[in-house]
Amino acid sequence: MSDSHLQPGFTLKALRQSRGWSLAQAAEETGVSKAMLGQIERNESSPTVATLWKIATGFNVPFSLFIPTERPCESATMLRSSRTRWPQTQDSMQVTPLFPYDPQFRFDMLAIELASGALSNSSPHDLGVIEHVVITEGELQLAVDGKWHTLIAGEGLRFQADCPHSYRNDGEQPVKFHCLIHYPPPH
Ligand code: MN
Repeated sequence: MSDSHLQPGFTLKALRQSRGWSLAQAAEETGVSKAMLGQIERNESSPTVATLWKIATGFNVPFSLFIPTERPCESATMLRSSRTRWPQTQDSMQVTPLFPYDPQFRFDMLAIELASGALSNSSPHDLGVIEHVVITEGELQLAVDGKWHTLIAGEGLRFQADCPHSYRNDGEQPVKFHCLIHYPPPH
């Protein structure tokens, strides 16, 4: 395993310990099994995008926290977007954190690619989390709280993401979209 695979386990363990959560409690919060969480923490298993999403959502932290990115010597206001995708070539969903989470701005900006026929279900984020989805290529079916919307390239939708939501590609070609997820300030 390369170094880039090591970070999710390290991040997960640090996060879990800072919350004072047992593996059992983390499993309950994320919907990922205790055994799987343990394997990820010990770097015995490299999580899929879907598993990583469950973990990030369960902990209410940005997805990009788990993605190793180059740290360019640029200021927060002048930052070239990243092209490092989560290295899961067999996944039907590919995620590239364009602009990783910065506490000053409180959003994650991701480029997502869904293969033909792929369905990705997202569990509800915490109250106040808002997603902005803009299609760059193809056509996306997006369900928010049970209602499906069709979006073509150039179209976008902003929605409150504290309810179940799903992304589906009914087309023959991959669909590509940008997803900006805004996290509300702590209260
Ligand atoms: Mn989501």
